[in-house]
Amino acid sequence: MSADGPRAPAYEEAVRARIAAARLWAAHQAPYLASAVFALNPLILQPARDADTGVPVADPDFRAFPADTRWNLYVEPGSALATPVEEIGWWMLHQVGHLVRGHAARSPVRPATGQEVSHAAGAVGPRDAEAHRWSQAADAEINDDLEAEDLRGPAGVLSPAELGLPANRTAEEYVPMLEVLAQAMDRGGRALAEAIDCGSAADGQWRPYEDSGSGDGLTRLDRELLERSLAAGIQDRISARSEVPSGWRRWAEERLRPSVNWRARLGATIRRGVSTVAGQVDFSYRRPSRRAGAYTDIVPPSMVRAVPDTVLVIDTSGSVTNDALNRLLAEVTGIIAGVAGPNRRLRAFCCDVHPHAVQVVRRAGDIELVGGGGTDMRAGIAAAMALRPRPDLVIVLTDGRTPWPEQRPATHVLVCLIGDGGHAPDWASVARIPADAPLRTPAKGES
Ligand SMILES: [Zn+2]
Repeated sequence: MSADGPRAPAYEEAVRARIAAARLWAAHQAPYLASAVFALNPLILQPARDADTGVPVADPDFRAFPADTRWNLYVEPGSALATPVEEIGWWMLHQVGHLVRGHAARSPVRPATGQEVSHAAGAVGPRDAEAHRWSQAADAEINDDLEAEDLRGPAGVLSPAELGLPANRTAEEYVPMLEVLAQAMDRGGRALAEAIDCGSAADGQWRPYEDSGSGDGLTRLDRELLERSLAAGIQDRISARSEVPSGWRRWAEERLRPSVNWRARLGATIRRGVSTVAGQVDFSYRRPSRRAGAYTDIVPPSMVRAVPDTVLVIDTSGSVTNDALNRLLAEVTGIIAGVAGPNRRLRAFCCDVHPHAVQVVRRAGDIELVGGGGTDMRAGIAAAMALRPRPDLVIVLTDGRTPWPEQRPATHVLVCLIGDGGHAPDWASVARIPADAPLRTPAKGES
C-alpha cells in the first residue's frame, strides 16, 4: 500500500490487518471501552526471524502485546501472525485496563537505577519479584471484569475466578492475597500463572524496546480527555441500562465525580498508600471456589502490622489559603491516626520555593504553617527524601501549581490535590480535594 518512500516489509500488511480485526473484535465485545481500544497506538517492532527460512517467528516475551503509558502497543510481528485475532483483541482490552486504571502510577515498585535497567538475562532481584507480584495483582483487577463478561483469558493467564479470589478488589488488595496463594502453591510446585509481561503500562518500569516509540502516543492532555469521554460513555450506558461490569462502573463514577466522594477517596488513597508501603492489607479471605479445588492447602494470611514512617510536605505558597490547609491537615492526620494509631508521631514540613524546618508533631493542630510566595515541590520532595531515617511514604498537600520531579522518587508519594487547577505527576497516587470542600470540624482529640 505504501506508494512512495521505503517499501513496507511483506509481513507488515498482514500484521496491520490482524491488528485492525482484533480492534473490531475488542470494540464489539466491550463497547463501553471502544474509544479506548481505538486510541491504542500499535507500533510494529522488528520481527524475530527463523534462522533458516527468515520467516517471522513469535517471541514469547511479546505474547501480551505490551503497552507503555503513552498508549503505545508494542506489536511483535511473529506473535501477531501466530496469535488468533480474538486473543489479540483480548490483550487489547486487557492493556486498556492497565492504562485506564493507572497501574503504572499506582505501582509500588521503585524505579530501576543504573545497572538494574539493563535487564541482565536470568538476574531476578527483589525489585523484579515485587514488579512481578504487582503485575499479577493488576492483572487480577482487570481480568475479573473481563471474566464477568465471559471474556476468559488465554491459557496460562492469571484468572481470579480459577484461583478463588474475591471479585471486585483493587490491585493493592490483591497483592497480599496473591502472596499467600503463591506461597501455598509454591509448596505444591505450581505457579499462580505463567510469567507474562504487560509492559510499563502495568508497573511503570521502563523497557528497553520502548525507545523505538518514545516520541509517539498520547500526551497527558490526550489521556485526560480520553478518560473523561470514556467515563461519560460508561455513565450513559448505565443510564440506558446497558451491561457494564462493576469494576468499570466504579471507575467511571470516581473519574467523573471526584468531588462527591472525595473524603472516602482521600481515606482510601491514604490507607492504600500506608498499606502498600507496609506490605499489609486488611482482608478477609474467601473460601476458594469449586474450580480451585486443587488449592486446598491455602492458609489464611497472617496479619503483620508495620506502620510506615510518613512525612507530610505542605505547600504553603501564596496560592493555597491557610484555612483550607489547616482543615485538610486535620482530615489527613485524622486518617493517618486511624491507620497508624493516635500517638504516632509525624514529621512534617512546609515548602514554598524552599523547604522549611522539619516539625515533629502528633496532631494537625501542632503544625505551624510558614512560608508564602512561589512554589516548587521538587525542592519539597527532595528534602523529604534527604531526611534520615528516610520516610517510607511522603504525602504532599498542594494545589498542584508547581513543577514536579521528572523521575519517580525512591519512596511512595501520595499527592492530595486541592482544587482542579493544578496537576500531579504520573508516578504519584492522587486524591483530588475540591477547593470549596465542606471540610468537617475535627472531632475532639483528633486535631
Ligand atoms: Zn497485564
